[in-house]
Amino acid sequence: MSTLLLCRPLTPSAFLLSLRPSSDFLKQSPLSERLTTRSAETGGGEEYGGKKHRVIVWFRNELRLHDNPLLQQAIRLGKKEGSRLEWVPVFVFDRAAFQESEWGNPKVGSHRARFLLESVEDLRKSLREKCANLVVASGNPQQVIPELLSPGAQHTVLAGQEVTSEEKNAEKAVFAAVQKKAEALGEGTGAGMSLVWCNTMYGLGDVKRLFGGNSVPSLPLVFTKFRTQVEKALQIPSPLPTPSRDSLPPMADVSALQSSESFWPFEKPLDTTAMPMTETVAQELERLGDGADERGVMRFRGGETEGLGRMKRYIWEEDRLKEYFDTRNGMVGPDYSSKFAPWLALGCLSPRQVASEIAIYESKRTKNKSTYWLQFELIWRDYFRFLCKRLGRSVFFPKGPGIYSDPPPPSVRSPRDVEGERLLSLWKQGQTGVPLVDACMRELKATGFMSNRGRQNVASFLALDCRVDWRRGADWFEHLLIDYDVCSNWGNWVAAAGWTGGRLNRFNIPKQTKTYDPNGEFIKLWCPELKRVPEKYVGTPWLMPEDVQEISQCRIGTDYPSPCVHPLTWRDSGRGGGGSGPRRDDRGRGGEKQKGKGRRR
Ligand SMILES: Cc1cc2nc3c(=O)[nH]c(=O)nc-3n(C[C@H](O)[C@H](O)[C@H](O)COP(=O)(O)OP(=O)(O)OC[C@H]3O[C@@H](n4cnc5c(N)ncnc54)[C@H](O)[C@@H]3O)c2cc1C
Repeated sequence: MSTLLLCRPLTPSAFLLSLRPSSDFLKQSPLSERLTTRSAETGGGEEYGGKKHRVIVWFRNELRLHDNPLLQQAIRLGKKEGSRLEWVPVFVFDRAAFQESEWGNPKVGSHRARFLLESVEDLRKSLREKCANLVVASGNPQQVIPELLSPGAQHTVLAGQEVTSEEKNAEKAVFAAVQKKAEALGEGTGAGMSLVWCNTMYGLGDVKRLFGGNSVPSLPLVFTKFRTQVEKALQIPSPLPTPSRDSLPPMADVSALQSSESFWPFEKPLDTTAMPMTETVAQELERLGDGADERGVMRFRGGETEGLGRMKRYIWEEDRLKEYFDTRNGMVGPDYSSKFAPWLALGCLSPRQVASEIAIYESKRTKNKSTYWLQFELIWRDYFRFLCKRLGRSVFFPKGPGIYSDPPPPSVRSPRDVEGERLLSLWKQGQTGVPLVDACMRELKATGFMSNRGRQNVASFLALDCRVDWRRGADWFEHLLIDYDVCSNWGNWVAAAGWTGGRLNRFNIPKQTKTYDPNGEFIKLWCPELKRVPEKYVGTPWLMPEDVQEISQCRIGTDYPSPCVHPLTWRDSGRGGGGSGPRRDDRGRGGEKQKGKGRRR
């Protein structure tokens, strides 16, 4: 696709008509080089008769001012081209993202919608302080963004580069639409698009060089190999500065948009009606209001301000970083892990900023296994993004890229299997009769968050014990998780289901409960039916003798469900059971260890 577009000759009315992902911004993409060189060579736009150049910064998952390559690119162009350049920042609540998935769940559920709305409002405020108005719209980006074109001007849409199919299709659709609109406007109007890599610690250009080129063909499918190679060969670039008020180019006059239905009034604070939600989600959001379930780990508020605030508190004020390695497998309260994920997912927080903060902490306070480990976890995040780049659409296939080790993942129930649907429904509602799974799933539904320990267990339970298509689980997570990130979510799920060639990591849930919730604090928080159950039985209440059930006021099958899978299922699943604890954990999260070579189907 991109090759075809690149072969197209540039015409005077088609400035930059090439949809070509830019490489690491810091290293300069060929496209951005071409863009800036042209302007410099022609004395700032004489080639186009000194026409206006309007840069449209389309924010998607980089809702921040700090370390934002899109803003720095706009600033750089402004410096080169002087007064002929103006810019428009825009965010579109994308209708497609709010629609139902093929399994009937609105992709953006109420928790995600609230966090997103708060994040966009925060960006709007921050930009306003820099004398820039964020244009907010609702609809399809390919319909909305062309409305920002001005007759007779040249345009460049700058957007963060994504790697997965739907997101890439959105980029292509916007590119085609602005091109079409420019042609329709005539008068030498031109439009192009430049995609900029924004959201990993390691630079795209560096990773491409290390792993064989554009589609990173030699990127290892095993995390440890990826990690050791990047740690050895690459540097994490420093974060880019937050733009000052004076450095940004002047805003384009887009006041005419006020009359268009797609755009939110500039002066009006955003509210939930700005989002194209389904009715069910809108009702849930209303019920949710501004409050939070008090059992939740914390009230996550969206936006860069809150994200940077959380980082400051966690690392500096509360000094938690130095103990992260020992606390990270917790499940209750705000401090067992960083909780940076929701802000990282929408780009309210940049991973490079976190890496830089860790380095400063190491030089000023302590450098230990914990400080290393937080960065190690962020490498997992990078890994899934680059892995999705390598694997393309196969990440979403029932058997992922189809690579597995011995033993192979269990066969999956047919989509028409009534029992599979029943198990899925119990899993979603937290009614499986397996307390750790139920507590985690209830937490997810009530708050939009779940610990990493919980996610691994519930994914293993659904995919490997219930043998339900893992994509149904990923779809439910996509609907609910406030830190939903397409690569981290689908990547972790396909790996948990055993389809990326790593060790099949089937969790022994009762054993995991004993290790990570030994006195049932987490379980009792979310499953009050089990409040009086003695510690000994809290992870395995089906083993309670009749008289203990009586005393605990918890009759299995009446007050709390019988387990929906046979408990003997875990008898042989020693691996991942927590018994080998630290050794397994030292190798990181999830089934990263490759056993054998892995076969391709
Ligand atoms: C089935 C499954 C689905 C998941 N879906 C998502 C998702 O949609 N979005 C998401 O951000 N994470 C996802 N994760 C990874 C991980 O569970 C969360 O990142 C983590 O629990 C968030 O809490 P935290 O910020 O306190 O993490 P910390 O423990 O404080 O870790 C710091 C950061 O490292 C990154 N990180 C840690 N573990 C992973 C991992 N396994 N994969 C990728 N990044 C990681 C995250 O950005 C996280 O914020 C998933 C894991 C599983 C097993």
